[in-house]
Order: sequence, then structure tokens, then C-alpha cells
Amino acid sequence: MSKYPGVPSIGFNEALIFDSSREGRMGCSLPGLDVPEVDTADVLPDALIRTRDAELPELSEPEVTRHFTRLSTWNFSVDHGFYPLGSCTMKYNPKVNELTARLPGFSMLHPYTPVHLSQGAIELMMALEEALREVSGMAAVSLQPAAGAHGELTAMMAVRAALTKRGNPRKKVLIPDTAHGTNPATVTLNGYVTEPVASSEDGYLTADAVREKMNDDVAALMLTNPNTLGLFEKNIKEICDVVHSRGGFVFGDGANLNAIMGKARPGDFGVDAMQFNLHKTFSTPHGGGGPGSGPVGVCAELAPFLPGPRPVRNADGTFDLVTLPESIGRVRSFFGNFGVMVKAYTYLRELGAAGLEKVSEMAVLNANYLLSLIGDTWHVPYGNGRCMHEVVASDKHLAHTGVTTLDVAKGLVDRGFHPPTVYFPLVVKGALMCEPTETESKDTIEEFAAAMLEIADQATIDPDALHRAPVNTRITRLDEATAARKPILTASMGEKDE
Ligand SMILES: *Cc1c(COP(=O)(O)O)cnc(C)c1O
Repeated sequence: MSKYPGVPSIGFNEALIFDSSREGRMGCSLPGLDVPEVDTADVLPDALIRTRDAELPELSEPEVTRHFTRLSTWNFSVDHGFYPLGSCTMKYNPKVNELTARLPGFSMLHPYTPVHLSQGAIELMMALEEALREVSGMAAVSLQPAAGAHGELTAMMAVRAALTKRGNPRKKVLIPDTAHGTNPATVTLNGYVTEPVASSEDGYLTADAVREKMNDDVAALMLTNPNTLGLFEKNIKEICDVVHSRGGFVFGDGANLNAIMGKARPGDFGVDAMQFNLHKTFSTPHGGGGPGSGPVGVCAELAPFLPGPRPVRNADGTFDLVTLPESIGRVRSFFGNFGVMVKAYTYLRELGAAGLEKVSEMAVLNANYLLSLIGDTWHVPYGNGRCMHEVVASDKHLAHTGVTTLDVAKGLVDRGFHPPTVYFPLVVKGALMCEPTETESKDTIEEFAAAMLEIADQATIDPDALHRAPVNTRITRLDEATAARKPILTASMGEKDE
């Protein structure tokens, strides 16, 4: 057996479902018509009536089952193996979360069910808000945004509303050079202009760098703590004071909350608004695996602007929904991705406060263990041999071999691992950002580290083999530029329409 989880093995190729279609083949048998037949022209306007048959594939039930089951085996998920995709926090998602989300009282609840018949769901939303307030130290939380980026946008809309109320929405938002791309995107969508702030040589944001750019035109600073280099911003309190002293708000990108739960609260170190990525920190499947949820937490001054309707508890103990008069309005239909909220709430209740603190301790310990195993061989530019929840290595030490980060990622695929995040953060050239998370065992981290060390060796001995990788996969190395720019998405049937 291979010493790595990835082995070449039986695998099925699968044609497009349209290519397997055979005229007249059916997956079901319908009973004969037992009502009078009507002509569609009598009941529908002309514009809605088809002039030719819908181009749907015709297959039997077993063919459809095999098609999708085979395709599902082409997927890689955290249930298959190690998925150290940095910043994305691909932790294992306990199955009990799925169980609760599928309870019929939650899963069958129609979003238009009247409030008096949705009391349990509203109560759960309030309890989740309360737990998130407790973890973050924020004054109020709205669960409505559907993803992290959406939560950022919502928070910055609240910032704009609050500044407008004070008399001037201001023009610019400061963003460190280590930031995730969604931060500047949020700024632009909110009608602000991004003003970059350079981090220091050792990867930290300094109060001086912020002071230099901070003025009365600046609405906010958006920062991530721990930052995307896996470092806890040690000047955070002073930085927040600088921004506040000139009337700005501090937005904290909460995507890395997994590293600090129970240890430090953004609300306590000066953050005025943040998003939570329930699908990262609070353990619900994401990536290809499910919808996200990006609640936003804010300080007291921003609370009146949160999106509505908001769940509230009446004096008699029942629950209700209200929209506050200064609210920025709805940012999502209905109440957001409710199923994700049930999963996140289950996770929070499973672990409790002590469990959450342990999660962060283990996440940081695992990353440091990985760093200790690969740090002598791999170039790790920041942190001096220590990190928070992720290790950011680079391909710098391989420069003389011609092997790049992309080759390394493909070499890892051959060995059965999902690659880390590559070429991000941008301040690290050829970055490989590895986030093991707390759910991985010591053995898995050792296996992955062994693969990283083997790849570093192979780079000097046989670089061409790495340029060719992956070879153990169904589809080997693609021309990525062509695959992205001119993808072939359709076969025989679709082509007719183009
Ligand atoms: C994932 C992530 C985001 C965006 O969150 P989505 O849920 O993917 O929209 C923002 N910032 C950082 C640092 C992230 O890792």
C-alpha cells in the first residue's frame, strides 16, 4: 500500500448525460390520464408555449443513478481526506449537525409560515445570535447575510449609514496588503475607494502605517486578525485607537476567528463590525458542498442599521420579527440560509464555551506542529518559526530547480491530498497557505508533512516529474489558461444551440 492516502485505483469515466440519452428511454412510469385532456393554447398565453420539445436527456433510473454516483466519486471533500486549503478552514463537519438540520420542524418549515407557527425557528436564531455575540464581544448580530463576503458588505453598509447619520459618509477605506480580495470588493460595492496600507517587514500592521493614512476622509479600516500570514496582529489595540480617534470604524474580517475563540474577542480589542463565516468556523460543509452563512456582528452605534426583519423576544416570552426604522433593509430573501444556522447552533451547543476554546488551541497547535515538521526544509517567510492557525510557506527555496508552487500543488494531488491555497496572500510570492484545522490527527499532519518533504526532494532530483504531475488522477495536467478561458462545457447536444 502507498504510504499516502492517494493511490491509483479503479475509477469510472463518465460521458455527459446528454450523450447517454436514448430516445424514448424513461426513468418512471406514469399512470394513464384520468382527467379530460386540455389544449395548452386554451389555458396559456402563446409566449409561454413551447414551439419545440425541451432538450432533456432520456435515461432509465439506474443510468441516472450511476451517472451521478460516478460523478460524485470524482469529487474531493473533507470526508475523503486532508484538505488544508488555507483561509477556508476546511474542518471536518460532525454528522450530528446534519441530523438536527434535517429535523422536519426545521427542514420542512416554509419561509412564509406565520410568525406564531415559527416560534422555535425564531428562538433558535436568537440563541445563535446570542452565542455569536458572546464569542465575539459584539453588541448585536444579524444572521441574514448568505456568505462571508456578503457579511462584509452588510457591515460596511451599516458603517456608511452610521457615518451618513453623523453628517458625512466619508470616501476611503484602508486595507492592509495582506487582505483577502473580498475586502476591496466590498469597499468598491459600497461606493468607497480602497487605500492600501503596507504591512511591516515582519508581516504585521503597525499603528504608524495606519496613522499616516488615517484622516477625516477615511470611513474605516478593514483588517483580518489573525492576518492571512497566520500572525496575530500584536498592535491591534493601538491601531484601533488610531482609527477611532479620527472618527473611523474598524471592520474585522472574521474569517480567521477559528484561531482565537475563547482567547480574544474582536469586540474587546477594538473591532466595531465583523462577519462570521459559519461555514468555516462553525463547521458546516462549504466549497462545492453546501451554502454558506455570513452573519455580521456590530457595536452599539451600528446596531440600529442592521438588516431586518430581526428576531426579537416579546415581554410575554414569545418571539417576533421587527425591522428597525433606520435599518439598511433586507440583504437576503427571507432570513438567510437557515439550515446552516441550525448546523452552526448544533456545533456551538455540542462544544460549549470550553470546547470552542479547545478548538482554537488545537487549530493553532496543529498548524505549529506542521510548521515544525516542514519549517527546516520549506521557506516560511514570516513568524520566526511560530504561527497561529495556518502556515504560509513559499516556493522560494526551490527556485534553482524550476519547480513552482503550482507543481507542488499537483504533486500533492498525486499523493492524495487537496492542495493548500496557492499564490495567496499576495505579499508572499509563490505562497502555499496550509491550514490543517483542529480536526486532523497527528498522523494525518505527519503524512502531509512527509509528502511536502518528499516533494522538496523530488524537485531537486527529478523536477520534470513534478512539472508533469498529477499522473495518478483521471485527468492529468491541464493547460490551465485554456481550460479557464475556452472551457469545453458541452458535447453533441448542447452544440446545436450555439
Ligand atoms: C473566506 C474568506 C472571506 C470570504 O468569505 P466567503 O464566505 O467565501 O464569502 C473573506 N476573508 C477571508 C480572510 C476569508 O478567508
